[in-house]
Amino acid sequence: MDLERIKSIPIATVAADLGFRLSPRGVGRCRLPGHDDHNPSFALRTRHNGFQCFACQRGGSVIDLAMIMMSMDFTQACGWLTGRYLGGNRSTAPRLPQIASAPAAAAHDGQVAPDPDIYGWLLDHSAIRSAGCAYLNSRGISAATIDHFRVGQVASREALLSDALKRFGRERLERAGLVAAGRRGIRLVFPSGYLLFPFFSDGLVVYIQARRADEGRDYRWICPAKLLPPPYNLDVLDGPAGTITICEGITDVLSAHELRMAPIGVLGAARDLSATVIDRLARRNVAIFSDADRAGTALAQRLRRQLASRGITVVTKRLPPGINDLNDYLQSRQAHA
Ligand SMILES: [Zn+2]
Repeated sequence: MDLERIKSIPIATVAADLGFRLSPRGVGRCRLPGHDDHNPSFALRTRHNGFQCFACQRGGSVIDLAMIMMSMDFTQACGWLTGRYLGGNRSTAPRLPQIASAPAAAAHDGQVAPDPDIYGWLLDHSAIRSAGCAYLNSRGISAATIDHFRVGQVASREALLSDALKRFGRERLERAGLVAAGRRGIRLVFPSGYLLFPFFSDGLVVYIQARRADEGRDYRWICPAKLLPPPYNLDVLDGPAGTITICEGITDVLSAHELRMAPIGVLGAARDLSATVIDRLARRNVAIFSDADRAGTALAQRLRRQLASRGITVVTKRLPPGINDLNDYLQSRQAHA
């Protein structure tokens, strides 16, 4: 059996043959057994030739997909894939599973889950404007960095909501955490003028966090309803960087990128790294730039312990006296340049 060849059978073809109806972005309802998906939670990870469901959390290679969909063991799945796609018997029909709603599926019904299709659409319809660029520029972030992170900006909250409702419907927007009940009906959670920071995984937008485009302190950051942010800029782990810098928050990730580091950002209350992320940090150097306050120090200690238990050595970086975070540091360097 040639595992490399089997694993490179195009996942889009296998998924289509197994009954998945996916958008051109490779996103659609999950049809994995036991998940009665009413949301497009399933996405192809084309760069890895794999798949992932953001709701039932299953994912893997074409072999895993065949195993799960047809209740086969590893050897049977490899045999089926070889027979069907690698010059064997092409008439081998897939044994499709019963899609009827299993009891486990009820737990996902109506719950909020990331919706990469809508998030991608939202970003495509929210180009950053000159005021948004000017604000980020004033904090030391260059146009090239704004472009790199594909920062967007909400033009009109009302117009965007109206277009999104026509295209996706209210129920789907609610499931994606994008609408909230206001005094005069529903409204988009992201106000007009807010900057949008997309979180990518294999080119799909799996989360969006919004920020005021000025120095006002009220509602500075806004997240989709009931969804916690994953780490930011995880795509950098697909690159060749030998040293990964962990920092706090989106602004510090942009600042670290500006300082030619390869950063990932931890944010929100759930700031532990998942086992998957830690695996992807293995065999690299990890540097932590946490904020110079008590919470930042505690975060650095916790991450250092977490990573050390997996054999990853971490260097804690200290900012110069009087400098509170990486954005302060970036701005002070630019002021002295
Ligand atoms: Zn699923």
